[in-house]
Amino acid sequence: MSQSAIAVVDPELQNLITKEESRQFYTAKLIPSENYASAAVLQAAGTILTNKYSEGYARKRYYEGQQNIDPIEEIAIARAKSLFGADHANVQPYSGSPANLAAYCAMIPKDSENQRILGLGLPAGGHLTHGWKVSITSRFFQAFQYGVDPVTHLLDYDAIRAQAMQVRPAVLVCGATAYPRQIDFSKFAEIARECGALLLADMAHIAGLVAGGAHPSPVPHADVVTTTTHKTLRGPRGGMILCKAQHAVAIDKAVFPGLQGGPHNQTTAAIAVALREAQTSEFRTYAHQIVTNAQALAQALLTQGARLVTGGTDNHLILLDATSLGATGKQAAKAMDIAGLEANFNSVPFDPRSPFDPSGVRIGTPSLTSRGLTKAHMPQLAAWITTAIRSRDDAAALARVRGEIADLMAQFPPPGFLPPYPTRPSQELG
Ligand code: PLP
Repeated sequence: MSQSAIAVVDPELQNLITKEESRQFYTAKLIPSENYASAAVLQAAGTILTNKYSEGYARKRYYEGQQNIDPIEEIAIARAKSLFGADHANVQPYSGSPANLAAYCAMIPKDSENQRILGLGLPAGGHLTHGWKVSITSRFFQAFQYGVDPVTHLLDYDAIRAQAMQVRPAVLVCGATAYPRQIDFSKFAEIARECGALLLADMAHIAGLVAGGAHPSPVPHADVVTTTTHKTLRGPRGGMILCKAQHAVAIDKAVFPGLQGGPHNQTTAAIAVALREAQTSEFRTYAHQIVTNAQALAQALLTQGARLVTGGTDNHLILLDATSLGATGKQAAKAMDIAGLEANFNSVPFDPRSPFDPSGVRIGTPSLTSRGLTKAHMPQLAAWITTAIRSRDDAAALARVRGEIADLMAQFPPPGFLPPYPTRPSQELG
């Protein structure tokens, strides 16, 4: 269905979509978990595949009419296995959170006495689904959390080992949502072996870096690897589970019929397209450019006087301590948003402030790298970020930055946006 069809059926919705297109086009997206899907991925996600029910797996479905759906899912699976070197792939999880829940259900037998999971705590950069107290994962399983070193804010593998030996989890979880350094998956595998746990690696944030060879892969080390498909991997909103052969049956059963009904076939097709794109040499270059840009941005922010958690980054994200620029995380994120810089407030490790107004802002380079920005743009970006935070009460300064950003963004159309490009809203005129 084309957008003009939406305009005919539902002008109110079309108006909001048009405004969102313009907002995305003329602002600088710095949220590290977001990206711009390509035109091909968007088209696949908008196809008539949405009309089909396909409960089950290829050649073992509960509905007829799967002549085309089976090969689509099989292509997505084959590409996922080949791109990441996995024994088995399940491409049906609706997103990252259900993928993690399915992984725990598969890895921890219902009747097992040991229902313990051990993952990185949310305040230290872990995800809710790694066993944080408000997540269903801590209700279904007995959840324990490790943290980061109180001084360096790095993962301390000796401390994690000591805690793991004490907790003796059934599943040790590694991976993060706000950790700016490389994760040593081989060390986690060693710890898991020592304490008798299975290892689950959640590579949601870094899947694109792993695919492009810009971050070591967890796949050789972990029993099960989960991911979203819409972050650095640049696919549609969705999830995937990769695993060693011996976990394949349990993983598939946990996703369907354990947790979900019919797979979203339009998403499966879009995942297949994204995986094809991720196999290209252009994508490898893209993945490395994300890291180059993040490191250049970190350096430029340090030069502007900002404090960064761990002092920099090895991956796609930076945790900026906004208090070093005289603002709380919420004030900083709000000011940046007014200035056309989209980020999110985030706790820093051992944050003395509340999670609703923490000290940090989380920023990343996957999206701007997708638009074609390079290392050379990063000093200007850092200047805009620090100006926005420091001048948060100066409406004219924020409007000036917003105008300058819109000028730059107009020169770098995001993937997925085809001409004619969105009209520039009046507030972006500076
Ligand atoms: N795992 C990690 C590490 C994440 O960062 C996220 C989302 O930000 C998820 C899982 C959950 O993904 P979703 O929001 O698609 O459920």
